[in-house]
Amino acid sequence: MPDTPKMLVVGSVAYDSVDTPTGKNDDQLGGSATFFSVASSYFTDVAVVAVVGEDFDPGDGQMLSNRGIDTSGLVRVEGKTFRWSGSYREDLNSAITLDTQLNVFADFAPELGDDHRDVPFLFLANIDPNIQASVLSQMSTRPKMVACDTMNLWIDIARPALVSLIENVDVLLINEAESLQLTGCDSVALAATDLLAKGLRAVVIKRGEYGAVVFHKNFTFAVPAYPMVTVTDPTGAGDSFAGGFLGYLSSIDDTGDDAIRRASVVGSVMASFAVESYGLDRLRSLSTTDINARFDAFVQLTRFHPLGGGQGLPVQAQFNN
Ligand code: AMP
Repeated sequence: MPDTPKMLVVGSVAYDSVDTPTGKNDDQLGGSATFFSVASSYFTDVAVVAVVGEDFDPGDGQMLSNRGIDTSGLVRVEGKTFRWSGSYREDLNSAITLDTQLNVFADFAPELGDDHRDVPFLFLANIDPNIQASVLSQMSTRPKMVACDTMNLWIDIARPALVSLIENVDVLLINEAESLQLTGCDSVALAATDLLAKGLRAVVIKRGEYGAVVFHKNFTFAVPAYPMVTVTDPTGAGDSFAGGFLGYLSSIDDTGDDAIRRASVVGSVMASFAVESYGLDRLRSLSTTDINARFDAFVQLTRFHPLGGGQGLPVQAQFNN
C-alpha cells in the first residue's frame, strides 16, 4: 500500500500540438496536471486525478509512475484523450489556442479515493471549474493550502463557477492577461487587489518572460523569469511554476511568508526548465545539480546589497514644484 500523498492535483492530461518560433511538434504529452506533477515530483509525493482515453499511451502513464507520482486517480475511459493545440508565433508569452477538444473531460466526474481526501496540499490545475470544485468538495479535511489556476476559456464559458471557486481557495495562480480579463481591471496591481478582496491569501500573477509577482495579503514580492536565450516551447511553463511553488511548500510543510517568497523562486526555476524543450523533454530529466545550479543563478540574478547603517541614497536635491 503506497503512502498517503502529500499533495493532490486535478487537471488535464493531454496530447498537445504546438507551433513555436523554433518549429512545430504534434501530439506531445502535456496537460496542466502532467506538467504540474512532473515538476512537483522532484520535491514531494504527488497524486494525479484526471481522465484519459483509449488512445493514451501506457508508456506515458508509466513515465509518471516511474517518477513516484501516484496515478491511481488517473482513470482511462472509452473515448479520446483531451487535445489542445496552440501557437506562440505572435507572442512567446501567451499562447493562441487554435483548438481545444475536451473529449473524455466533457463527462468527467472525479471520485476521490480515501487516501486522497486528506492531503495537506491541493492544486486545482487548469480545467473546468466545476471539476475543480467537485474535487475540493470531496476533501474530508480542509487542506493546509488549496491553490488553483485557470484560463481564458473558463473565464469565457464558466465564469460564475470560477468566481465561486476562487472564493474558496487560498492561492490563485493566473496569467497577467487573464487576471485583467477576469476582473475587468486595467492594471495587474488593481486586478490583484480585486482578487485578494475575494478572500484569497495570495494571487500569483504570471507574466511570461517577465517573471511573476506574488500579491500576498501581507506583502508583494516579484521574481524574474530566467533570462533565456532560446525559448523552444513555452507550453507548461505556468503549470511547472505551480509545481515548483507548491511542491516546495509541501516538501517543507510551511506556508509562511518567507516560504512563499522562496517557493516563487522555485516556481520560476522549474518554469525555466520547462521552456527549454518541447513538452516535458527537459523538465522530466533534471538532476539535483541542475535544479540547485538554476536556483543559485536566481539568487545571483536578484542579489543586491541594501544600504547599510540607516543610510539613504545620495539624492542631491529635492524639488517642491
Ligand atoms: P501552461 O502551463 O499555462 O502553458 O498550460 C499548458 C497546458 O494547458 C497544455 O499542456 C494544455 O494541454 C493545457 N490546456 C490548454 N487548454 C486547456 C483547458 N481549456 N483546460 C485544461 N487544460 C488546458
